[in-house]
Amino acid sequence: MFEPVLLRNMDVPDGHLLATYEAGGGYQALAKALREHTPDEIVDLVKQSNLRGRGGAGFPTGMKWSFVPKRAGKPKYLCCNADEGEPGTFKDRIIMERDPHQLIEGMAISAYAIGAETAYVYIRGEYVLAIRRLEQAIAEAHAKGYLGTRILGSDFSFVVHIHCGAGAYICGEETAMLDSLEGKRAQPRLKPPFPAVEGLYASPTAINNVETLACVPHILARGPDWFRGIGPDKSPGPKLYCLSGQVRKPGLYELPMGIPLRELVEDHAGGPPPGRKIKAVIPGGVSAPLIPECGLDVGMDFDSLAAAGSMLGSAGVIVIDDSTCMVKVATRIIEFFHHESCGKCTPCREGLNWVVKVLRRVEAGQGAPGDLEQLEALCKGIFGNSFCALGDGAAMGLKAALAHFEHEFVAHIEEQRCPFH
Ligand code: SF4
Repeated sequence: MFEPVLLRNMDVPDGHLLATYEAGGGYQALAKALREHTPDEIVDLVKQSNLRGRGGAGFPTGMKWSFVPKRAGKPKYLCCNADEGEPGTFKDRIIMERDPHQLIEGMAISAYAIGAETAYVYIRGEYVLAIRRLEQAIAEAHAKGYLGTRILGSDFSFVVHIHCGAGAYICGEETAMLDSLEGKRAQPRLKPPFPAVEGLYASPTAINNVETLACVPHILARGPDWFRGIGPDKSPGPKLYCLSGQVRKPGLYELPMGIPLRELVEDHAGGPPPGRKIKAVIPGGVSAPLIPECGLDVGMDFDSLAAAGSMLGSAGVIVIDDSTCMVKVATRIIEFFHHESCGKCTPCREGLNWVVKVLRRVEAGQGAPGDLEQLEALCKGIFGNSFCALGDGAAMGLKAALAHFEHEFVAHIEEQRCPFH
């Protein structure tokens, strides 16, 4: 039986309050970090743990921190990406609503490791309760000396500001988020320079996801070997999985990284509704290509899913049963990406516009011979030619739907109707 780590306070009454967090050993990892470790040692501990970013890309966190230059000069910043706009994803919201001090403690340790004295939480504006709880937690932490000047009697000073997003999906892309924080229109930046060297206000900046930062106090408290002992060695640790769609017990599950997708969906989330069969599962938010039922034995970790042609992404697991039209699924997903395209580059801005037009026609039973070839050609033009991952993700998702469910697209075109209605 897996003992929850990140969700251990979820059902504790008043789990969002400082007194409750302290009663469970909260902020002792920060005290230990300041008392026993240099910043470089903390970076090394996180490197040894093999913690990889939980926001989607899976980049090693300790390595990312080590890219932040050590020399004095410009201020350094920590940015917490709490925009969580990926459809099917709600893990960061739950952490911030139910256990915000876990995040704040993780941010304080992380900021100490990289030499930052200021952090921003870029939070999705719709997350009203999470914003309130985070504001309250920051005030409590200040009053108790866990934030502010000379924290716990050390030389380390650190403050956290909250910045509310305005509903643009692209702000989850780290450099677009930085532009938004600076008050500009959010569009991805050209890299290099990478944010670790030249990020917020052209200063060195570490950008980490909420769940990633929430792992840090546990690594400090229990050691990197404990963390690496959970799940696969190359992408270990406790992991939050968001289950939604046509499944009996949707919700947030904490289980080891690498758990088989089938076990997650069928054993933990109860499988599809009575009388239905699973047709496919999207394993990591709609940016991750779907996996047909026959592929569900894949492990839910970065490397196994990449080898299977998909990705862990945000671990937003969306279950699709056999009552659902895959043309409809593909159309809704591409409509989302088209709507959220920032418009900076032509392949994504124009390509997705054309993809939506063709898909809507096919879905409505007005498809024409050659439409599938047209969709393939558009995917080819978008993938690898887009400025950021949004365009690539959209093209990969559509390609997977076409590859695994081509017969449904063909049926729509040949029968000039949706066979599911
Ligand atoms: Fe913007 Fe799309 Fe280009 Fe990304 S791929 S920069 S979202 S237009």
